[in-house]
Amino acid sequence: MAATTMQSISLTTKQIIIDYPGINFVIGDVFRWSSESQTVTHPAIDNIEQLYQLLHEVGHAQLDHKDYSSGAELLRMERDAWAYATSVLVSNYQIPDSELRQSADDALYSYQNWLHQRSLCPSCGAVGIEKSKNNFHCLVCSQSWKANDARSCQLKRYKK
Ligand SMILES: [Zn+2]
Ligand SMILES: [Zn+2]
Repeated sequence: MAATTMQSISLTTKQIIIDYPGINFVIGDVFRWSSESQTVTHPAIDNIEQLYQLLHEVGHAQLDHKDYSSGAELLRMERDAWAYATSVLVSNYQIPDSELRQSADDALYSYQNWLHQRSLCPSCGAVGIEKSKNNFHCLVCSQSWKANDARSCQLKRYKK
């Protein structure tokens, strides 16, 4: 049974929650993993994209991801969580993995784009370096700036 219909998406979501008793699953506005409370926050799962994102959060949980110290580390954790989701979904939940890969690629692309945007110097537009978490410095014009934190895994999607 491929999990592509509404009913199977709902059943698969229930099964995931049963399969990971160590994780608290809580309904909320955005997809998010909190290592302090071992909680995955997620909206109601109504479509396959949201199911992928849920498995991605389970990936963060299973890989014991904690807070990140730089954009590069954040990107590595995002990539690892998607890789975990891809392998778990394919083997355990029989979800078409070509679609999942596309979803993972889109998500990573939006992360890369976001990381790139926040690294651009607000004064001269050069790519700055991240000296400490969210604190950037421009080697061209010496401007320093602070970037916002990633608050959830569900970033604005940039169209290719
Ligand atoms: Zn600059
Ligand atoms: Zn994530």
